[in-house]
Amino acid sequence: MNIIKIDCPHCGAAVERKQNEYFGTCPYCGSEVCFDDIKAEAEVEGLRQKVSDLDWKLTTDKQYKKQLSTWKKGRDRLYIISCLFSTVGFIFVMISKEEDDASVTIGMGLLILAVLFVLIGAPLHCLKYPAFFEGNEDFSGNKISRFGLLGKVVGIGLLLLCGTVVCSAIVCAIFNL
Ligand SMILES: [Zn+2]
Repeated sequence: MNIIKIDCPHCGAAVERKQNEYFGTCPYCGSEVCFDDIKAEAEVEGLRQKVSDLDWKLTTDKQYKKQLSTWKKGRDRLYIISCLFSTVGFIFVMISKEEDDASVTIGMGLLILAVLFVLIGAPLHCLKYPAFFEGNEDFSGNKISRFGLLGKVVGIGLLLLCGTVVCSAIVCAIFNL
């Protein structure tokens, strides 16, 4: 014969339930125990727990998604600003005439600012949201990139721009242009 133990709903003591038995008496407090009621109660409790777990998961997922999108927006803004600085800086350097030093100075200054903006801004931005450091996964299980597509494009663009400016400066210096 199978015997299982069920908690008495009144005092919590273990009440033995034999197979095919629907009612029992608690040996400690003497109250009548309906085993089916306890089972139904446990099932309802389990469902309640499931609903509350799901609710909690949905809420945290929503918060995570929101944080991630804020982080991505901030990251992209950083690169857009850097892109603007470097483009304007590059134009200033390129339009400079030989005797026009101010234009070169402004242009170089803007290029340096653009590089500093990325070099200092990107890590600082990551520190603000440590959960989204590179390598972590986003809500859909995709790996989060610290740079994003925009960052990579701007990064390569910056390297090319700075490279061009530095190379032309070196060439000008060597050949005394
Ligand atoms: Zn009892």
